[in-house]
Parts: sequence; C-alpha cells; structure tokens
Amino acid sequence: MKTLSDIDFKDKKALIRVDFNVPLDENFNVTDTNRIEAAKPTIDKILNDGGSVILMSHLGRPKGKEEKYSLKHIVATTSEVLGKDVKFVEDSVGETVEKAAQALKPGEILLLENLRFYSEEEAGDEAFAEKLAKLGDVYVNDAFGTAHRAHASTTIVAKFFPENKVFGTLLAKEIDSLNKVLGNSEKPVTAVLGGSKVSSKITVIENILDKVDHLIIGGGMTFTFIKAQGGSVGDSICEDDKQQLALDILEKAKANNVQVHLPVDVVAADGFKNDANTKVVDVKEIPDGWQGLDAGPKSLEQFKEVILNSKTILWNGPLGVFEMENFAKGTIQLGEYIAEATKNGAFSLVGGGDSVAAVKQFGLEPKMSYVSTGGGAMLEMLEGKTLPGIAAIQE
Ligand code: AMP
Repeated sequence: MKTLSDIDFKDKKALIRVDFNVPLDENFNVTDTNRIEAAKPTIDKILNDGGSVILMSHLGRPKGKEEKYSLKHIVATTSEVLGKDVKFVEDSVGETVEKAAQALKPGEILLLENLRFYSEEEAGDEAFAEKLAKLGDVYVNDAFGTAHRAHASTTIVAKFFPENKVFGTLLAKEIDSLNKVLGNSEKPVTAVLGGSKVSSKITVIENILDKVDHLIIGGGMTFTFIKAQGGSVGDSICEDDKQQLALDILEKAKANNVQVHLPVDVVAADGFKNDANTKVVDVKEIPDGWQGLDAGPKSLEQFKEVILNSKTILWNGPLGVFEMENFAKGTIQLGEYIAEATKNGAFSLVGGGDSVAAVKQFGLEPKMSYVSTGGGAMLEMLEGKTLPGIAAIQE
C-alpha cells in the first residue's frame, strides 16, 4: 500500500481528492466539520514536507453549475480548521485554474470549485481527468466516501500519475481497519449485523462467513430468519421470499463453524411509532397486531457475553428502530458492550451505514477503535468488492 510516507513532497504540488461534502445550513454555514478535520493529517504532512496542496472535492448533487453548491461557501471554515489561509479558484479545470496551481508556493493551499459542476466528473471522463492531472505532481486520494465510484477525480485521474499516486492518511486508515477485522484478525472475531433487511446485507453475510467465529444477527433482519425456522413474527418486518436464503445462510454458517446468535426475545409494539404500546415477548411468539422493534433483555444478555469475549468486533446495522427513543435501547446497550470490549483490548470497527449514525448520536464514537467515514464505500468493502478508487492507486 503506497502511502504519504513513500513520497517526499518537498517543492511538489499534491493534487488531493478529499471528501468535503459537508452539510450547510440555509445561510451556507458548515454545520459539521468532521470531514474537513478528517483530511487535516494528510494536508499537514504534505505542507510540513515543504509541498503545496491542491484540494478537489464534490459538494451535494448539483445539476450543472448551481451557486448554492459552490465550494466557496466552505473556504472560511476550511481555513479555520486547517489553521492556514486557503485560496479558492472558481473553476475545477482550465487556464485560470492551471495558473493558480502554478503560482502556488510551498506551504500554500488551493481549493478548486465543486467537481460535480462538470458532468464529466461522475461520467469518469478521461479528458477531464487529464485536465485535473495537469495541476499536480503527485495524486493523493483521501476521499474514502467516494472510493467506490469510478469518477474522474477518484479513479480515472490516477492513471496520469503512474509512479506518483498514493493513499492519504484517512483512506489508508479505512483500509487498515477493515484488514484488521477481516484479514488476519485476533480471534474470536464477532460480526454484528443489524438493520432492516436481509436482502441488503446478504452479500456482506456471504463474504464474512469464512472470516468470523460469531455472527450476531439483529434488527429487522431477525424476523426473516425466525419465520423461516417456523416462528410466529406477527406484523414484524419480514421478507417472505428470503426465507430459504436465511436457512441457506444458517447452513453455511454451520459448515463454517460460525456460531449464529439471533435474538431470543424482542420488544414488540402494537404500531410503528414511538408511543405505541409495548411488551417483551419471545421472538418466536409475536402475536398478530404486534411487531418486534428492538432486541429484548435476554437477547442483550446473550449478546453481551459474546461481545465481551471477542477480540475483534465488526458492527454494521442497528439492533432496533433506534431513531425512536423507545426502541433505541438495544442499539445503545450493544454499543456500550462493544465500548467495554474495546476498553479491554478488543479491536472494534463500526461501519457501513446506520450504525455509524447510531454510534455518533449516542456519544459512543470515541469509545470504538475505528468508526468508518464512508457508508456506501465501507459496505462495498465488507461485501468483498474491490473499490475502483483503491484499485486505481494500487495498479
Ligand atoms: P440498514 O440501512 O439496513 O442498516 O437499516 C437501518 C434501519 O433499520 C434503521 O432505520 C432502523 O430503524 C431499521 N430497523 C432496525 N430494526 C428494525 C425492526 N425491528 N423493524 C423495522 N426496522 C428496523
């Protein structure tokens, strides 16, 4: 894996693909600076080496040039977070941009305009990528959030830097963390998969079955498994056409010596709303008119034991409808068990969707070993796919 330490950036211009797709309020103030902070180690390292930095990113989903999506809105905040002056150029390619890049001195930062003002970006247009490539001596990809897209700035541009293309610190950390979990990880390895549907997680499950010792299944997915085993799931979310698939997964898990842990009880509600009536019931005996919306206390006790005995933990997907306060307990508890295991020396990775939101919402982020920054990209990595943005650097 070629990283920043493989290059001496002195007097070099680094063209960095960052993910500055940050949320803005109605007055165009940045409301969450996490993504800018995440790129700081890469930028600092290059500037400290005596290089200069050209930052390129997308923001939102503009249809052509739309002022409200201009990256000019984030210049002041970027400058504040980086603690340095940030120059801005109102285009992404072309003569003005080339001049601005050429004029850049060591230690200076230039931010380009929103790449998605050009349809060529998402189309992965080669000529557009070549124009971007003209701006720098070294290409650095530090945008994990878009590493699963073969866009001009995330993938295609790399071919114009056959010798001088590297992973930024953030992207390298994402790859490292996943390798720690699904590569040569310390056993026992436990994966917790929650979320709403089996169908959206099937590829992940298939990919990890030969890599984990324990598989905890929770969330809405539970009920397809329980029904397939002959249980009554009442009005719980259930994919009837995936029942055979659920049984096949359980068979395959057995063949791989993976212990599968499904909830044994659930918090059932008489409606899909926070103030519905609730009762704890056996997961196989949910009455009609009731639906399981969170893991029950006995299930949580069992999950706790598995988690606290694990040395490596992957968490993808909530155990219940955590967006509603009354059904968030299972997800919070699970997060706390993982935090405790992590404190005791386990490695924990949270990634690939809603569990990241849950961990942030409940203040558990600092207690995890690593929380992934890219939902879709992490999910594809968990599925065992090679991400084009990563492959382009490795080729
Ligand atoms: P995913 O995007 O597949 O990770 O699914 C996350 C969503 O699953 C969240 O919005 C949860 O509210 C939802 N979810 C979790 N448990 C349940 C459940 N028992 N019934 C319905 N939805 C659920």
